[in-house]
Amino acid sequence: MTAPLRASDQTVHVGLPGRAYDIVIGRGLLASLGARAAALRPGAKAAIVTDRNVAELHLAAAEASLTAAGVASCRVVVDAGEGSKSFGGYERVCEALIAAKVERGDIVVALGGGVIGDLAGFVAATVRRGIDLIQVPTTLLAQVDSSVGGKTAINSSRGKNLVGAFYQPILVVADTTVLDTLPPRQFRAGYAEVVKYGLLGDAGFFAWLDANVKEVFAGGAAREHAIATSCRMKAAIVTLDERETGDRALLNLGHTFGHALEAAAGFSERLLHGEAVALGMVLAAEFSARLDILPRQHVAAVSRPLAAAGLPVRLADIPVGVPDADALMELIAQDKKVRRGTLTLILLRDIGHAYIARDIDPAQVRAFLVEKLDER
Ligand code: NAD
Repeated sequence: MTAPLRASDQTVHVGLPGRAYDIVIGRGLLASLGARAAALRPGAKAAIVTDRNVAELHLAAAEASLTAAGVASCRVVVDAGEGSKSFGGYERVCEALIAAKVERGDIVVALGGGVIGDLAGFVAATVRRGIDLIQVPTTLLAQVDSSVGGKTAINSSRGKNLVGAFYQPILVVADTTVLDTLPPRQFRAGYAEVVKYGLLGDAGFFAWLDANVKEVFAGGAAREHAIATSCRMKAAIVTLDERETGDRALLNLGHTFGHALEAAAGFSERLLHGEAVALGMVLAAEFSARLDILPRQHVAAVSRPLAAAGLPVRLADIPVGVPDADALMELIAQDKKVRRGTLTLILLRDIGHAYIARDIDPAQVRAFLVEKLDER
């Protein structure tokens, strides 16, 4: 079983050589943003990039913290939603920063969910050839996933995240209090990524989540423990494989089937990323059992904590039209996961033990999808 919460667990160090940084996790940490920024980069100004929803709820607190620490700041507020992760959104934020005379030695603060983290991160990576970045993630998904590990990107009209850079922040401030204002559906979607960490590499954490789902949703120490444990696992994987040439791909557990379903839903509010990943993980477990890699009785154990959180675990649970198996296979192929006629999938040998399965025959995946679609 994963160790109980201790105060010292609240800082997770990402030990990338030359680009190491801390993730600090706890209630009320937004108030410490200014002091932390001033300590890391004395004399620097801060440019806060955020979206309209987050601006209304948390921008004043972020600005007050910077002001109290003597850090001058400016703000760039974009529309909420995936549409801002575009060439147009990128251009607007770049121009705003340049107009505000943000210099190389200053700091970009990404205050928001994964959309803002990815957009502001890519802006920080490229304006003036690189400005230091502090991530202040405000969704559960961003706190456990997108703010950690340095992937930044905007979307192309041909697909998601196709233009971007690896760019590590100098600090991540995950204030768990800001999650209190998050719509419950968004919290649930982020929770799917939390379960993913247990499933892929920590059976004790998975069992702990199964027993503590209510406490994690209620907030407090259990929530912080879940976030810190998730960040620790992502940090460990990223430190070993920053550029995803090997084990970082394990983080894609549930994403092959999930992305295909998300694409079928047009990457819209109809199916959130985490919802698609939840169902994608159950499908990955079922497919693993079908290949006799995962004991069949474990499939129910995989879906239980996800269903308990109200996440979809069967194709019949999602409120979007699912295309036929051939169309789903086409979407999987577009996801670059087919190489020389074979598929790479993240499969499960056990709860807490995922592995990268190369050379999967697409015909087997198609037959499996036909069966699943028939079950609805
Ligand atoms: P998001 O940033 O769109 O946030 C979801 C919604 O919640 C938005 O409407 C936002 O305004 C609102 N919101 C944010 N914080 C809030 C708060 N505290 N209170 C109330 N409302 C709040 O979505 P997301 O799920 O955080 O991120 C999704 C994005 O993350 C996608 O673009 C995805 O590609 C990206 N992503 C990136 C990585 C990575 O490694 N870089 C990993 C996973 C996902």
